[in-house]
Amino acid sequence: MRVSSALVVAAVLTAGCARKAPPSATTAARTTPVLARVSNRPGNLHGGVFVIEYHKIAAQEARWDRSIARFRGDLERLYKMGFRPITIGQFIAGKMPLAAGASPVAITFDDAHPSQFQILPDGSVDPECAVGVWQAFATHHPDFPVRATFFVLPNLWGQRSLVSNKVALLRSWGCELGNHTMTHRRLDRLSDDEVKAEIGGGAQILARLGTGIAPLALPYGMSPRDKSLLRGFQWKGGKVEIPAVVLVGAGPSRPAGDPAFDRTRIPRIQGIEGENGITDWLDQVEAGKVKPYVQP
Ligand SMILES: [Zn+2]
Repeated sequence: MRVSSALVVAAVLTAGCARKAPPSATTAARTTPVLARVSNRPGNLHGGVFVIEYHKIAAQEARWDRSIARFRGDLERLYKMGFRPITIGQFIAGKMPLAAGASPVAITFDDAHPSQFQILPDGSVDPECAVGVWQAFATHHPDFPVRATFFVLPNLWGQRSLVSNKVALLRSWGCELGNHTMTHRRLDRLSDDEVKAEIGGGAQILARLGTGIAPLALPYGMSPRDKSLLRGFQWKGGKVEIPAVVLVGAGPSRPAGDPAFDRTRIPRIQGIEGENGITDWLDQVEAGKVKPYVQP
């Protein structure tokens, strides 16, 4: 597969824009970068959408930790295979900023582990945190920008005094925050009121950070006993809205427009080795056993 890393500056419309009437002067239209065709693969609007889940980025690989070297390798491999990053919000809205021939990948980070985003004393991004590794990669691959969904807990990567700076940086890069509850308890073991406090409390913290309605990642992938709570609920005199819910396992998602797509149960692929990990699923794509979504 031929992959071009160059941005074609002569082209002025993305494939998505070209099919529609010219958009009004929205922010999205003004900031949509020029996108070069990524591959000659035929379009496949029915293929699987890869949503990857990472936790801790570490020096050494472990059961739930991705090594820095392997994380870098994942970005490289995804890029070469024609994947380009989207957020969960873009996925569920059906507004994926993809060049023709590209496949979407929603890279998500759970738990707000400090290894995901650290600022060094000199104010620069730690080159060994996930964001730093990705930034370095994006410098040489500008069509694979740092664009991810961070499902956070109230610890917010540590470094309390820098939280608002980090959130502003992430937002400026096109990343988004998601809710991962207050205390990461299994929601299937809680009363309805406790479930509401877990999800509602997380949503409240995100609102204070300037994040609007946010998607939810279920701790351990466990749904509450009353699954209707995952479609939103009244809490403390207001409405907690939940536009999407992501699981822990275990495979590509159906595209958002597919009749089988359930926004309260979006599966994810683990950013680890072994069965059902990212390497396994990308191997299956290369073997032709799994067909990813491809932008026409
Ligand atoms: Zn978690």
